[in-house]
Amino acid sequence: MDIFEKCHNYTEAKEAMAHGIYPYFIPLTDNEGTEVVFKGHRLIMCGSNNYLGLTTHPKVREAAIEAVRKYGTSCTGSRFLNGTLEMHEQLEGELADWVGKEAALVFSTGMQTNLGTVSALVGRDDRVIMDKEDHASIVDGARLGYGKIERYTHNDMAHLERVLVSIPESAGKLLVVDGLFSMEGDLADLPNIVPLAKRFGARIMVDDAHGMGVTGMGRGTAAHFGLTEDVDLIMSTFSKSFASLGGFVAGDEAVIHYIKHHARALIFSASAPPANIAAALAALAVMRSEPELVERVNQNAEKMRKGFRAMGYDTGASVTPVVPIIIGDNDKTFFAWKMLFEAGVFVNPVISPAVQPGHQMLRTSYMATHTDAQLDKVLEIFQSVGKELGLI
Ligand code: PMP
Repeated sequence: MDIFEKCHNYTEAKEAMAHGIYPYFIPLTDNEGTEVVFKGHRLIMCGSNNYLGLTTHPKVREAAIEAVRKYGTSCTGSRFLNGTLEMHEQLEGELADWVGKEAALVFSTGMQTNLGTVSALVGRDDRVIMDKEDHASIVDGARLGYGKIERYTHNDMAHLERVLVSIPESAGKLLVVDGLFSMEGDLADLPNIVPLAKRFGARIMVDDAHGMGVTGMGRGTAAHFGLTEDVDLIMSTFSKSFASLGGFVAGDEAVIHYIKHHARALIFSASAPPANIAAALAALAVMRSEPELVERVNQNAEKMRKGFRAMGYDTGASVTPVVPIIIGDNDKTFFAWKMLFEAGVFVNPVISPAVQPGHQMLRTSYMATHTDAQLDKVLEIFQSVGKELGLI
């Protein structure tokens, strides 16, 4: 049996390519934040995670350039050995302060943060408890650990309780949940998750990749609910509001110290380069000095939700800058994506199994830097595409 046989038989993506409806790996020739260019065709970007628009903020840009001038392009090694700069530790201190925890640890991506953190904490007799809509990096982190995985239906507290009841008291328990769910744009029900988890002695880790910078005055979903003290670990990524690449986990000093010495994704991988760390530091400084950006991204999303709903689109449970347009069918989702793309709007088609059947969607997301004129144009294009396809 040739291990490559499945590769030669894999035709799905090629069929979509042949029909001109392949929406992934689109190579852009320009990306100015709110607008991008593909083969000379300019599009309004409604499919990125650049929520605060900081990838082009002069202070963030300048900080990255300055870091390359000063330190070069790479740390060429792991945090553990030669790859820690003072800057990494400065960022850890500032992040811990920002999210309201004792200590933080910076990884090279958010994916690695989850892989490293969850697998470091969850041993053979332990349990990871997850919402079924949790991000893939949490699922993979749990798989890397030796513990058993338990999943509950999205934000279903009765199901979560049944799961917790079924776990032996003697097992260590880590409940890991997205703060802001990246596809539906809704929030974890932390006000109910926290007391439940506490009742059963489960520690809580919130993955706030999308919530950080956007909810809780920029300090994330736990802060939004006033539950910073009640969740044990807060992780996030730099690849969204922080306009960079990297990730971090924050919590009690002793726990972070343990993760630092047990997370293989940290110890056996090169550290985030100077430009990325400097950009994240500068982005954090902008979040502190320009809180109006957080307000603006939420206002922009509200404008779009209202606009879409008025046209008759279903925006699901969104209460954040992630606004899904639920289409409910794979083909229609791809056709709508294609028509929007040609008309100058960049969105992300999401089909099952990434979402439950019936929830196939166009994922749209907004930035603080989108102008009213851009957003009005997007609404106008959605109206005409929706009418043409009979979606509204
Ligand atoms: N967690 C969530 C909820 C995410 O959406 C993502 C990225 N899409 C990650 C973790 C991983 O972050 P990164 O892109 O930094 O690897």
